[in-house]
Amino acid sequence: MTIIYCKTCLLPNTKPGLNFYKGICAACINNSIKKKIDWGYRKKKLKKIIDKIKKDNPSAMYDCVVPISNGGKDSWFQASFMKNEMKCKILCINLSAHLPTIEGISNINSMINSLNIDIIKLTLKPSVHSSLRLKCFKRYGEPNWAEHLMVFAGVYNAAKLFNIPLIVWGEDISFEFGGSGKRQTPDASNLLFKNDLLKKKKLEDLLDEKDISEKDLFFYKLPSISEIKVSRIKSIYLGYYINWDGEKNYNFVKKFGFKKELRPRSGHLVGYDNIDEKLCEVNGWLKFLKFGFGYATDELCYEIYNKRLSRTDAIEKLKKLNNDFHPDFLEDFLRFHKISENEFYDIALRFLNKNIFEPKGNWWSLKNYPK
Ligand SMILES: [Zn+2]
Repeated sequence: MTIIYCKTCLLPNTKPGLNFYKGICAACINNSIKKKIDWGYRKKKLKKIIDKIKKDNPSAMYDCVVPISNGGKDSWFQASFMKNEMKCKILCINLSAHLPTIEGISNINSMINSLNIDIIKLTLKPSVHSSLRLKCFKRYGEPNWAEHLMVFAGVYNAAKLFNIPLIVWGEDISFEFGGSGKRQTPDASNLLFKNDLLKKKKLEDLLDEKDISEKDLFFYKLPSISEIKVSRIKSIYLGYYINWDGEKNYNFVKKFGFKKELRPRSGHLVGYDNIDEKLCEVNGWLKFLKFGFGYATDELCYEIYNKRLSRTDAIEKLKKLNNDFHPDFLEDFLRFHKISENEFYDIALRFLNKNIFEPKGNWWSLKNYPK
């Protein structure tokens, strides 16, 4: 099998849910749509929503929840925008990483001090989280599915507990990176039960071995569609209302003390993205084994969409970055999941897509690259 790549970026047809039109992928089409949007008008619309939320909820302790990662640039930007530009009383909710990086710890502390905000950190039981992740690794080759569930469900449940009327998420990745979201929408409620990160998998599917108690799962439980419909909690994407650009967010927050990675990770173009926790690195490497694209492709495409890099230069960089791609923080991953390196590679190689990879030396290499 030969991978077919988008004519204008580097995304492959192996990416789940990605549609192509005359050889051009949905992410490229959506990014060209983004360039024609009247962002001034959209920002005014957001202001109106915020004004209405404040008027309708005079007794709410907070105007909105801003879900934050463990010291990421986008979360910092998001919280700053909602507090300082939208003049909201915000509550940041962080579903804590079980293995944060030094950079992440330092950045989240700098963010709290710089923005002077309230934050709730929820750390869920390590034994349950490790077990859920290990099952996701063995069954789907995707340990971080448990992470995504923890964040989406955890933030919603915390907002409900504190009776906060609005959740402001960041960008809609399924629109910007060409997933199932064909049209850009301000409404992020779909995020909770149907999105490209959660897909069609369910928490219940992971409870078949009776090793996890129902009582340990409160923050992992997504609301039902009917609960969302009657709920007073509104969920929106900030990326619908402002022209979202990860690099601009980075340049913004670094003025206030955000620091990029101390040590470069393999397979990455930029040193400021996803640097806050350790467990996601293995997940990204597994994605490469399954679909033939990883962080390098995503980050290079982002540069192409934002006209900071030509496609030709990006292809050269992609080959170099993929050649040196290995699972960073593997020792931490093994310790957290209590498995050996041999077990890890046994499981990982079950997910290697041999249709698109061929043996090279003592490892595997992609059969074909974009031209
Ligand atoms: Zn494309």
